[in-house]
Amino acid sequence: MATPHLMIHIVPDKCDFCGCCVGVCPEDAIELKESEIAIIEERCTNCKKCVWACPWDVIEFHRDGINTLPKKLFAIDENQFSKSLSK
Ligand code: SF4
Ligand code: SF4
Repeated sequence: MATPHLMIHIVPDKCDFCGCCVGVCPEDAIELKESEIAIIEERCTNCKKCVWACPWDVIEFHRDGINTLPKKLFAIDENQFSKSLSK
């Protein structure tokens, strides 16, 4: 059976269109237009530089529909942040 390959995946609702991912992509594979972001999959080499550059964990790599990457420690969980403010 063939091994399912990684698929780059964007969670658009989490994106604030800061452009950090665009700046680090060595293949010019990310298109950012005002309030839209897209990956040009034919150019993407799966290097994941965009993943580590994104402050909000917007870019994921999926295998069989499941994100294979851990959440970054510095990404802010808004629910936890609100809870800590209300203490
Ligand atoms: S994984 Fe690498 S090549 Fe692909 S979009 Fe991200 S930075 Fe660009
Ligand atoms: S770095 Fe993350 S938040 Fe910024 S534009 Fe890219 S995907 Fe969106």
